[in-house]
Amino acid sequence: MKNICVVGVGYVGIITAACFADLGNKVVALDIDQQKINELNKGSMPIYEPGLKELIDRNVKANRISFTSSYAEGLKDAEFVFIAVGTPSGVDGEADLQYVAAAARSIADHISDGMIIINKSTVPVGTGDWVSDIIREQNPKAANFSVVSCPEFLREGSAIGDFMEPHRIVVGSLDPEAAEKVAQLHLPLRAPIVVTDLRTAEMIKYASNAFLATKISFINEIANICEDLGADVMEVSNGMGFDARIGPSFLNPGIGYGGSCFPKDVKALAYMAEKEGRHPRLLNSTMEVNNERRQMAVNQVKVLLGSEELAGKTIGLLGLSFKPNTDDMRDAPSVTIANLLLAEGAIVKAYDPIAMEEAAKLLPSVEMAESPYQLAEGCDALMVNTEWNEFRQLDLNRIREAMNSPRLYDGRNIYDPTLMKELGFAYRGVGRGYNGS
Ligand code: NAD
Repeated sequence: MKNICVVGVGYVGIITAACFADLGNKVVALDIDQQKINELNKGSMPIYEPGLKELIDRNVKANRISFTSSYAEGLKDAEFVFIAVGTPSGVDGEADLQYVAAAARSIADHISDGMIIINKSTVPVGTGDWVSDIIREQNPKAANFSVVSCPEFLREGSAIGDFMEPHRIVVGSLDPEAAEKVAQLHLPLRAPIVVTDLRTAEMIKYASNAFLATKISFINEIANICEDLGADVMEVSNGMGFDARIGPSFLNPGIGYGGSCFPKDVKALAYMAEKEGRHPRLLNSTMEVNNERRQMAVNQVKVLLGSEELAGKTIGLLGLSFKPNTDDMRDAPSVTIANLLLAEGAIVKAYDPIAMEEAAKLLPSVEMAESPYQLAEGCDALMVNTEWNEFRQLDLNRIREAMNSPRLYDGRNIYDPTLMKELGFAYRGVGRGYNGS
């Protein structure tokens, strides 16, 4: 049993805190957002993540996890302090480190001998050294502490499973003893542990996210070419994925990547490269291909409508979150798409199983429906933006009958183009050759 404090109770922090508690440690989860702490103390979850409430309830009952907004309380007995605050995109794509700096200063005020501070947030290369400097500056008496990088690789929607069964743990430090202690803390996860220096660990996270984003842009570029040449990208991707050197994951064509990580992390890595005088051509192309996807989806709806004119047309968005099983709306493609449609005078309606409350804050002009069937009523076209499982088995006859005219743009390729045509839909998928476009 170790004493742990997790600073920042967002998507990553809450999972980190809950999972370490479940592994038998004593965890204090700390956030400056008092409302979030109050909610957690009342047993309600600040985010939607499958299995989270059960995990938290179990560990609260067992007295292994508590919530606070006080650094004095959170750090009182802590040997390990994880920083899991946000690192959003700042000016020119540079990561905004204001929250990391504030957390480091507050930690410095309550630091104790031998404390290990672990950066779990995705932070630019060199941030670990910078955090050490901030702590020393804020509290010149702080002598015996270490900073370790341990980036997080979980995915929203499957975060608990990803945390508990990671592909690898990366531990970076210039202090071998601290690195060893952090590695030991992760031993129950039975994953390969890569121990390296601070800067290399920080880079592993950015390089991994940039590679995955590049894979998505790659298959989207192939999808465009498939559309031109009459090939089916779904079969292309299937045929490619069996090759062990390529692998099947992240080869799903669609309306592009979004969310709180890939867009900002690719941008931040490109910024780091530019700052060193290097022109990151591949990263820039990855972003360029991705940025076109949202407008391209709107263009495809125009093709389905047989008109460049969207004014007065009613478009229904099936799915709003940037991916299934989360309510996270940060940089969701659906937001850009809805705004593009609204800007051209369309009436936009939407349905999402979980994310409508979050989405309504960003899209006040979009009418939210109670079900996919209610959404379909009076629509001139539907767009699938998120591949929620519940959309895969809809009663498509009912959907067709409810619509003003049955047109569907499938931005996630969840339907079979041949079947959709048999059902009487004007249908377009992404890169689906003769059948789907
Ligand atoms: P988030 O915005 O959901 O949560 C950040 C939390 O930190 C908020 O609750 C905020 O109130 C709190 N906070 C801000 N300043 C604070 C301070 N000074 N002291 C205490 N708490 C403070 O962020 P997130 O999505 O959990 O991401 C956190 C980090 O993890 C980012 O660097 C992100 O890139 C990285 N990451 C995110 C994911 C993901 O899927 N969301 C996956 C891997 C890595």
